[in-house]
Amino acid sequence: MTQDFDLNPTIPVAPADFRSGFVALIGRPNVGKSTLMNQLIGQKVAITSPVAQTTRNRLRGILSTDQAQIIFVDTPGIHKPHHELGKILVKNARSTVGAVDLVVFIVDGAVPLGKGDQFIADFLVKTEAKVILGVNKIDQRPDKRPEIFASYQALATQNHWQLQEFSALAGDRLPELQDKLIQALDPGPYYYPPDLITDQPERFIMAELIREQILLHTRQEIPHSVAIAIEQVNEGEEITEVRAAINVERNSQKGIIIGKKGAMLKTIGTAARQQIQKLIAGKVYLELFVKVQPKWRQSRTRLAELGYRLEDN
Ligand code: GDP
Ligand code: MG
Repeated sequence: MTQDFDLNPTIPVAPADFRSGFVALIGRPNVGKSTLMNQLIGQKVAITSPVAQTTRNRLRGILSTDQAQIIFVDTPGIHKPHHELGKILVKNARSTVGAVDLVVFIVDGAVPLGKGDQFIADFLVKTEAKVILGVNKIDQRPDKRPEIFASYQALATQNHWQLQEFSALAGDRLPELQDKLIQALDPGPYYYPPDLITDQPERFIMAELIREQILLHTRQEIPHSVAIAIEQVNEGEEITEVRAAINVERNSQKGIIIGKKGAMLKTIGTAARQQIQKLIAGKVYLELFVKVQPKWRQSRTRLAELGYRLEDN
């Protein structure tokens, strides 16, 4: 009997009818792209929040089943850019579309088709991307749904796109969406080991989990001016020590994040520590400090230092 030795034992050989591919999640800010990705892969890798423009860097989430492997590419929402950071975010979302096998164009099913969606639809039509229209948030406004649904149905019919309604938050009709995605992909190999859920290093997810708590606990102006840098991670036997800098643009923002007698920073730190403990499945000591970096969003160099780069496909 001969024995086959697999040179890369973590990536199995796909069966003959296996399908795989890269699927971009595209849509306006806040329609639920990151929520959908987390639900489909079954773990939180992308942060979500009620504040628009939560997602900054492109993040891949990997879903592996016996039949298929789907690599989701979560993108920042497409919108009109106002500053250098905004320009990079939009440009990266656009370049993503050209590099994937399939696009799920996600819209907010709680409201009818709007200008922002039409802007994205026009852009997608000009590309050669294969598109499925995903109508999310069907748990909201069920009374108004027939009219809303009609506006999206018309858009899908006009462009020969498939349509699937779902609720990412409630987990409703996600199996139907998943089936449609798999059917739309070509036969292909495993690209990643089946137990891997994201392509991002743990440090990146840690920084995102800290940023998420800032989004949740501070007012509108703060979240957009914040960048997290993980400066040190020491993995001890009992506890992992994480040291992170919260970069802001102004002294006033530093004050808000620290709060009265450090109360806000303590709240953010406690909540972020709990999230990071779930991520690494172990005890964490989290040290946070706040740094003022004037106008970091306007400076390409600063942006690159903080991990925001134009991505080439
Ligand atoms: P993204 O900017 O497109 O990535 O949107 P997020 O995933 O961050 O979600 C934006 C907000 O919409 C969050 O507060 C989510 O909890 C909420 N959301 C996402 N999906 C649903 C859904 O199916 N139903 C409802 N009611 N809210 C949702
Ligand atoms: Mg997002």
